[in-house]
Amino acid sequence: MATDKSGPEAPPRLGLFGGTFNPIHYGHLRSAEEVCEALALTRLWFIPAAHPPHKVNGDLTPFAVRLEMTRLAVGEHPLISVSDLEGRRPGRSYSIETVRQVRREVGPAWELYFILGLDAMLEIAGWKDYQELFTLSHFVVLDRPGYDRRRLAEVLIEEVHPQFRPLQEGQGFQHPSGHKVFFQETTLMDISGTGIRNLVRQGRSIRYLLPEAVQGYIITHNLYV
Ligand code: ATP
Repeated sequence: MATDKSGPEAPPRLGLFGGTFNPIHYGHLRSAEEVCEALALTRLWFIPAAHPPHKVNGDLTPFAVRLEMTRLAVGEHPLISVSDLEGRRPGRSYSIETVRQVRREVGPAWELYFILGLDAMLEIAGWKDYQELFTLSHFVVLDRPGYDRRRLAEVLIEEVHPQFRPLQEGQGFQHPSGHKVFFQETTLMDISGTGIRNLVRQGRSIRYLLPEAVQGYIITHNLYV
């Protein structure tokens, strides 16, 4: 668990799972489900990036299309929903602006849990105003095949804050603000948007890598060919 406090009087917990979702796949979906359960999240929002600063925009499927696929994938879920908030904001989709906006909208009572893969977390020092993110939210880091957890300590201590403290049993680290960066075990799936787009381009099957509704949408709309 991220914190010791749980039970009816505990603060509500909101998970924020951002990404390009080009397209969303079972690596994202199953991780979200398992994080919800393990951390007893009150809500989890998938937040597709409208204009991600780190991706080549010329190659990027339009936001509305990625948003629609994400909605199709989630369907009706008691806790998980899809937010279009980055599409409603002009300019580049910086995570810091999203987290500040969420914090303003939900108020101070909610605990925020920023969910991301280890590959993305290791790049955090390239993000806009990244130090501030650690003062606003906990971080939940998902393993990805081929990425070594041990590299995270160097990134956090050398590039974010020298006073990050290790948590017990290699679970993660604590920022001086009290927010934690912790590893969450989830079912490891070597699935990526890049891999799916490549399969489509090669005319190969993408069945069972992502929900059938999203697969159908990709075929009907001739995406990634
Ligand atoms: P691409 O291959 O297009 O770069 P991607 O599949 O890695 O895409 P994104 O939409 O960029 O997915 O990822 C959103 C977030 O989900 C990132 O933090 C990423 O690390 C994480 N993520 C992506 N795929 C997986 C997976 N299979 N398991 C766990 N986390 C994942």
